[in-house]
Amino acid sequence: MAVPKSKISRSRRGMRRSHDAISYGNHAECTNCGELKRPHHVCLSCGCYDAKEVVAVDA
Ligand SMILES: [Zn+2]
Repeated sequence: MAVPKSKISRSRRGMRRSHDAISYGNHAECTNCGELKRPHHVCLSCGCYDAKEVVAVDA
C-alpha cells in the first residue's frame, strides 16, 4: 500500500478541499409549471418533458 511520506498540514489539506464543494450547476424553468428543473431532464414536480407529460406524478 502506498504510504504518505509526510503529514499534510492543515493549510495544505484546506487548499485541497477548497475544490471539493459541490454546486448545483445550471438549471432552467419548466415550460409547463415554471418550476426550476435540470436541462434535458424530466421535470420533477410535474413529470413533463417538452411540454408533454411523460411520467405520472401523484398529488
Ligand atoms: Zn414542470
